[in-house]
Amino acid sequence: MKRKQKVFLLVVLSGMLLACAGCVRIMTYTAVDTVMGTVSSQTIYSSREEDCFTSEIKDLIAGLEQDTLSWRVEGSEVARINAAAGSGAGVQVSEKLYADLEILLKLSEDSGGAFDITIRPVAELWDIDGWAAGENIFGKQPVHIPTEEQIALALSYTDYEKVLLEDGAVELPEGMALDLGAVGKGIACDRVFLYLQAKYVQGAVVSVGGSVVTIGKKPDGTQWQIGIVDPWDTSAFVGILYLEGTHFVSTSGDYERYVEVDGVRYHHILNPATGYPAESGVRSVTILCDSGILSDALSTACFVLGEERGMALAEAYGAEALFVDTEGNISMTEGMKQVFQER
Ligand code: AMP
Ligand code: MG
Repeated sequence: MKRKQKVFLLVVLSGMLLACAGCVRIMTYTAVDTVMGTVSSQTIYSSREEDCFTSEIKDLIAGLEQDTLSWRVEGSEVARINAAAGSGAGVQVSEKLYADLEILLKLSEDSGGAFDITIRPVAELWDIDGWAAGENIFGKQPVHIPTEEQIALALSYTDYEKVLLEDGAVELPEGMALDLGAVGKGIACDRVFLYLQAKYVQGAVVSVGGSVVTIGKKPDGTQWQIGIVDPWDTSAFVGILYLEGTHFVSTSGDYERYVEVDGVRYHHILNPATGYPAESGVRSVTILCDSGILSDALSTACFVLGEERGMALAEAYGAEALFVDTEGNISMTEGMKQVFQER
């Protein structure tokens, strides 16, 4: 073939490739499921149908709960750790869970114990899991408010410093138990991100309860929009986060699980220093960062710490934070101001 012919052929081929790239159709796949005792919604943009099995995402999250995180499911990694507490034998766990526990113990320390993955005995005493998500179930079943003595006893079985991580194994003292309720949804977002990243989807937004992951781009070029729930009216938003690319966002709020007894409101985010629901002057904390587990853990930790100390912790982790206080005032880190638009 002569040089001129070769160049001509190359030009024709490149033209065909470009035309083809232009006509690739990006499909939108959406699903809403109930997983981890909460609602998960998924929107995925991709040109390849096989990449978009939203049911695989549901299975992945359900599997994470069954095999790893749930303290209720006999045989899950956390249930095995809890069952072996006090036996003197460490429980060998998966590399992923071990790595996650290392992150969580570090955060427990960095938060001065405001975040504590051994809060289980206190959460169990309050029967937090018996409270309905997002509604006041008082009247539907008797609510048990623990006595101070009961709280003191349960608290004596909590202390993240006593969790032993060594050579891939986890060991707890007698009577202690792990509770990963504060981070399960964020960990789920991390796993969904890894799954979708390997599928080369063009864009996706997946929520699991109060945690969300955004990945890549929307086909129309517009930004991802994440609403921040109004604690006084959970069907409304106090504002919207406008994001581009991959991010993890988690919100902890006192409206998610609570009961009211004799006019007193008890919610599900506990202060490990007192054993009572945290009263730190905030109603919700939203964290934006590059990790699901950290966004979820930090939102819980910052709720317990309150605005000033919470803001400092978020900044130390390079995360953006937004606080809605009990008066309805909104305060946030500088980076959050760039992406938040108040309603
Ligand atoms: P979140 O809604 O993500 O803030 O998580 C709240 C859940 O985490 C509760 O239902 C408890 O299971 C657990 N939890 C409550 N208080 C704490 C705390 N101070 N540290 C760690 N986990 C907590
Ligand atoms: Mg959390």
